[in-house]
Amino acid sequence: MAQLSPMMQQYLNTKEQYKDCILFYRLGDFYEMFFDDALTASKELEITLTSKNCGLDEKAPMCGVPFHAVENYLARLVSKGYKVAICEQVEDPKTVKGIVKREVVRIVTPGTITSSSALDEKKNNYIISIIEVDDMFGIAICDVTTGYFSVTQTDSLKKTLDEVLKYMPSEIVCNDAFLISGIDINDLKYRLGITIYPLKPHYFDEDLCIDSLKKHFNVDNLKGLGLNDYQFAIISAGGLIKYLHDTQMTSLAHISNIRPYSTDKFMVLDSSTRRNLELSETLREKNKRGSLLGVLDKTKTAMGARLLRNYIEQPLIEQEEIIKRLNAVETLNKDLINREEIREYLNSIYDLERLISRISYKTANPRDLIAFKNSLAMIPHIKNIVREYDDELLSEIFNSLDDLKDLHDLINKSIVEEPPISVREGGFIKEGFNEEIDKYKHSKTEGKSWLLELEAKEREKTGIKNLKIKYNKVFGYYLEVTNSYKDLVPDNYTRKQTLSNAERYICPELKELEDIILGAEDKLCNLEYDFFCKIRDEIAKNMLRVQKTANALAMLDVFASFAYVAERNDYCKPEITDNGIIDIKKGRHPVVETMISNGMFIENDTYLDSSQKRISIITGPNMAGKSTYMRQTALIVLMAQIGCFVPAKSASISVVDRIFTRVGASDDLASGQSTFMVEMTEVANILRNASNKSLVVLDEIGRGTSTYDGLSIAWAVVEHIADNKKIGAKTLFATHYHELTQLEEKIDCVNNYSIAVKEQGDDIVFLRKIIEGGADRSYGIQVAKLAGVPNEVIERAKVILDDLVSTKVQQNEEYSQLSLFDFTLPANDKPNDENSQIINEIKELNINNITPMEAMNFLCELQAKIK
Ligand code: ATP
Repeated sequence: MAQLSPMMQQYLNTKEQYKDCILFYRLGDFYEMFFDDALTASKELEITLTSKNCGLDEKAPMCGVPFHAVENYLARLVSKGYKVAICEQVEDPKTVKGIVKREVVRIVTPGTITSSSALDEKKNNYIISIIEVDDMFGIAICDVTTGYFSVTQTDSLKKTLDEVLKYMPSEIVCNDAFLISGIDINDLKYRLGITIYPLKPHYFDEDLCIDSLKKHFNVDNLKGLGLNDYQFAIISAGGLIKYLHDTQMTSLAHISNIRPYSTDKFMVLDSSTRRNLELSETLREKNKRGSLLGVLDKTKTAMGARLLRNYIEQPLIEQEEIIKRLNAVETLNKDLINREEIREYLNSIYDLERLISRISYKTANPRDLIAFKNSLAMIPHIKNIVREYDDELLSEIFNSLDDLKDLHDLINKSIVEEPPISVREGGFIKEGFNEEIDKYKHSKTEGKSWLLELEAKEREKTGIKNLKIKYNKVFGYYLEVTNSYKDLVPDNYTRKQTLSNAERYICPELKELEDIILGAEDKLCNLEYDFFCKIRDEIAKNMLRVQKTANALAMLDVFASFAYVAERNDYCKPEITDNGIIDIKKGRHPVVETMISNGMFIENDTYLDSSQKRISIITGPNMAGKSTYMRQTALIVLMAQIGCFVPAKSASISVVDRIFTRVGASDDLASGQSTFMVEMTEVANILRNASNKSLVVLDEIGRGTSTYDGLSIAWAVVEHIADNKKIGAKTLFATHYHELTQLEEKIDCVNNYSIAVKEQGDDIVFLRKIIEGGADRSYGIQVAKLAGVPNEVIERAKVILDDLVSTKVQQNEEYSQLSLFDFTLPANDKPNDENSQIINEIKELNINNITPMEAMNFLCELQAKIK
């Protein structure tokens, strides 16, 4: 009976333990996949599917990828949501008889991949672990590429989802209870484009979790980690640490710190507000360009870029913290020359966070160490400048900056300036670093001249003028003789290989030299590798120092970027207060102003307070700039609270606890929600969660349904928000329901504003200026005309509008008696398309140029058409 080959038996045994992964099984220079894995991978990676004899009657489907290009293939599979188990040969095949031992050394998942080809250097790659226990949620967030690890907990699913959407993880692991906690898993998967796996229950066993954390952070109890009040967060963190150890199978020493945080420490931004304000990507194209991040991110390092993104995702709410950041930005803003010098130095700094993680993972290569060293060389220069600043946060940064001179010097004296990437083939340890290495190097170079001598001697002796000594990996060194000299080959040459135009030989002297040279080469490579590992481990021991410095550099980079953008875009330093007043003079929209030609953006003021000026109803024509104005206010407040200067002449911002926006209509068909349903869900969220410290931006509430329903909802929403006992939030409300302007009379804190336009005959000119008082028209037809709607439709619309208006005037209506939709539409006496074509034909006919007969025929044709 056919039997599996031993290798295939080994493969299947390994696969059995990693059923949920695609197994990359190392065979020589390839990682091979078999059976179903091969079918999946060949399709996903578009590589050829072959087959291999596995001992059974039928061959096993197989495909493979070369080991040196594996990172690319891994990145592609993982980005499609697969997990990959890497199974390596753990014995040297040269020293083993029979089958080589193999083991899985790493499992690569979307949230734990470390290869740079799979990562965006300006973005963190987060894995999140979530547990639900008794209606409480523990959340742990980790980026294994940088060592970032933080935890929090919430008391509601909604808050949990807000946290998840803030981080936009690549992978979520959870307990079974979370899956049935009422969350719409498919919706979450769709929104994030990721897979969510429940882990086996033992991962989230409370005692085991506590033990895992204690062991990982090397502490006796969790008090010292500040986790006292984080009972649920601890479980999610412990489960995550265990999962990371199980998948990475290497030291995770670079995850050296755990940061618990309370969700109240930051401004809560729900997912629709983030999307609507286009914080880190645009609503439609999902581009960074056109988003707030696109304007503010002028950082020079990848670490700075990631931190700036985090700042935008979580604005502060503590006045003092905000002021500290703003002061640092101000200092750098005023000191242009030194700031630009700092930015120049930062420009030469590589991603220290990810480099130190690779060093700790033992995946860093010699080039990584040189990049690391060159980056460290910049730190003393930066420190020299920062030392001079008299500013609290900049001084903190200065104190956290470590020159890391010892690490710089270690690499400087050991690794050559331009090393090869591979760690296995030697050639990267500097001359003079180690005597033994130098000795082998020497015999290697001497060997080269011995070879040249032997070549000359053999040419002379045999008379074969073009005899050459060459080398290849398979045959080692050989003498090559072209066919024309074949007859001169002496007896002591042994043939190794025949080519079409030459023969290859070995002779005793060459064999002797080969043993010496290749022996030295092998020893040299091994020795260099051993020393490289020692150097890498030595650096890894200093992880905490490197991480602290990297973090300080990232902050400096962000503040310098804010200062630079402030100067370039003419921003001002906002005053941060808690007096309940938002007072912006000559504010601008940070993104829109960069999209239109210089100086063409019209500045506008905003004033909102906690009493008489709490709610602004903004009316005005389509396209006038209502949305832009409201978003600009929200963005200015948000920018101030991340510690950034703002696009205004002056701004005094009383800290808000949340910003809510409901802007524009959008379908969410994928999650089965209609436009109006989405709109109302967002409104419901605002009404339930806004407080008197929140800023609410509502753009055209109620537009997704019939006029009466929409208007009534809009009216009721304003009344509810205006009520101090219910919400009392500062609110900007844009609407085309001009009836809402009546609320100014009825509710004290409501005020009407409109955006001015100038009528020019039949057309309008947008002035983009916000003025007091409501508008009475929307000029929709004029805007439709500007948009290129055919003239005929525009003309017809005007007739309908005139009739509607005159009916309304005759009935002297108030909004509550709107009966304009009961009336009969005016007859359409304008020519339709076909008629106007006939009229055109008659017009274009040149009567002087046709015969009476032709005229008769023409008339007949027309009549036929009309009939
Ligand atoms: P609608 O009622 O149709 O939604 P809107 O009043 O909300 O329109 P916006 O979408 O805010 O109008 O603005 C339309 C365009 O006008 C913007 O895309 C921008 O190009 C321009 N715009 C808006 N505000 C200004 C401004 N203050 N200065 C210059 N251009 C502006």
